[in-house]
Amino acid sequence: MENYKQILLAADFTDHGNVVAQRAADLANRYQAELSALHVVDSIPIAESIYGPIIPYDGDLSSELVKVAEKRLAEIGEQFAIPVGRQWVELGSPKLEIIRIAGEKDIDLIVVGSHGRHGLSLLLGSTANGVLHHAECDVMAVRLSDKGD
Ligand code: AMP
Repeated sequence: MENYKQILLAADFTDHGNVVAQRAADLANRYQAELSALHVVDSIPIAESIYGPIIPYDGDLSSELVKVAEKRLAEIGEQFAIPVGRQWVELGSPKLEIIRIAGEKDIDLIVVGSHGRHGLSLLLGSTANGVLHHAECDVMAVRLSDKGD
């Protein structure tokens, strides 16, 4: 079996997030791997709307969101022993940024939840699906049900 060295937790700050983070931390422990965490401040309504840029790009709002996200990620980092230098917040499309950062940081395993905000009724959420299809490294999708586990 692959001996993972760099594990990336994709943290979306949903209620299920702790289950996913715990799994990533357990895997990092088991493989003696370095654990990193990434949150992407989703800019889809601004950047990818089929209606064009109807929402004016607000740099201030984005940097406020990034600051809040950094704080939330720091709390997760403290809880799951993720070094400050390995907590990353990016702005953009979650699936694209997760894939980009995984490539740039030589990640060999990405841990995502099967669902986040985008549809518990589906087998896989859209971010999880996109990452599974396009990442160049292994991806673990932690199965989440809507019963809070
Ligand atoms: P989704 O496919 O959007 O339902 O989310 C599935 C999983 O993708 C979540 O459990 C997270 O692991 C990851 N994810 C979703 N959105 C983000 C985000 N904005 N930043 C980081 N990871 C995310």
